[in-house]
Amino acid sequence: MSEGGIYLFAGPAFALIVAATFFGAWLYQRQRGYVLLFAITFLTFALGSLSQMLRIPYDYGSNTMVSAILYTFAILCLVEGIMLRRGVQGVDVVLVGVAGTITALLYYFYYIDRDLVARIYIGNFGYGLMVVYAAVRLVRLSNQKVIDRVILILLFLFGLHFFPRTLMTVRDGEFIREYARNLANDPQALRVAFRTSPFWQVLNFSLLISAFLMALTLLAAVAMDVIEDLSREGGVDALTGLANRRGFHRQAKTIRPDGPLAPVSVVYCDIDRFKTINDTYGHPVGDRVLQTFARLVEKEVRADDVVARFGGEEFVMLLMRANRSGATGLAERLRAETELTHFPGLPHGATVTASFGVAEWRRDEDLTEAMHRADRMVYVAKRAGRNRVVVDEGGPLAD
Ligand code: GH3
Ligand code: MG
Ligand code: MG
Repeated sequence: MSEGGIYLFAGPAFALIVAATFFGAWLYQRQRGYVLLFAITFLTFALGSLSQMLRIPYDYGSNTMVSAILYTFAILCLVEGIMLRRGVQGVDVVLVGVAGTITALLYYFYYIDRDLVARIYIGNFGYGLMVVYAAVRLVRLSNQKVIDRVILILLFLFGLHFFPRTLMTVRDGEFIREYARNLANDPQALRVAFRTSPFWQVLNFSLLISAFLMALTLLAAVAMDVIEDLSREGGVDALTGLANRRGFHRQAKTIRPDGPLAPVSVVYCDIDRFKTINDTYGHPVGDRVLQTFARLVEKEVRADDVVARFGGEEFVMLLMRANRSGATGLAERLRAETELTHFPGLPHGATVTASFGVAEWRRDEDLTEAMHRADRMVYVAKRAGRNRVVVDEGGPLAD
């Protein structure tokens, strides 16, 4: 039984519950390998601290090595899981190297040159180094989502906290050394002193807080990933929040060219030279341009209208109570506003333009035909030099 009190078991108990939660989530979402890695992270963390607290194995040397290997493995799994979630490989030569070095040095400072303070430094600084290194690698990925930023910040704090924590508490170094000298005389007294020392208490408390914050954030991230996938299946474009092709057709199903909302018009729109924006400023900036453009479109349309991104930089609007000239007016306003808008992520002075095709939905045609006519007009606008609105004159009635 631990001399530090039963509350010390709160950490491993909590970690085991989190591990079980991730494992349960993974059973339903087996395609998400990182969820299983999070489960293993918290499981090995719990096993590591239980091994220390319950002294399994009993022998001090083996105990040091077993718990260190479990903690190191937990950190490797955490890093790999966080990186895998973002689609990149996490564990690399550096991390495996640091992990191996930690293990080797701990072995050395127990079996060859016994030094508890050295072991404390090596373990803590080693873990801090691994986590900070992983966080630095994550910074280089484009972090668009809030949850990704929260994970990144948390990872940094978690990694950095190993350093002041160790320096602060190893002021107890003399105290620990002093007792280490007495170990031969009175091992039981040393253990009590160590486990009730500020070092051990702060260590457990800060680990508990870190594990708690990390667990909540990672659980939220998994939940958000699942929701995002569901909403994509459900007809929403995850990047812009507009409808996707599927959502568009679902919403358009009840609309008729001769229904109560007639006349109905289609506006097709395609951002000009978008590939150049991507190539010049990077794909994440391209994504932000798409998001900003989506907000401009939303601002122009009315509540009844249907707006969608059809993939890439192609947007479609189905406008209610809008004839050819009403739809053209809207397209023209949107075109002019796009040209004047500063797009976040682009340098000042850089402009974005778009080409528009307009067609009024005739009573004698399918929606697909009307959309096809509008789409063809985008092509005409591009050929004519871009940044313009072209109207299909094959509308129903002459104005
Ligand atoms: P044009 O003026 O003729 O329309 O030229 P363009 O470069 O805009 O046209 P093109 O269709 O050749 O290029 C579209 C580019 O959009 C190519 C593709 O890599 C990029 N793209 C497609 N989907 C996305 C996305 O979700 N995000 C980002 N950032 N880029 C995307
Ligand atoms: Mg384009
Ligand atoms: Mg295109």
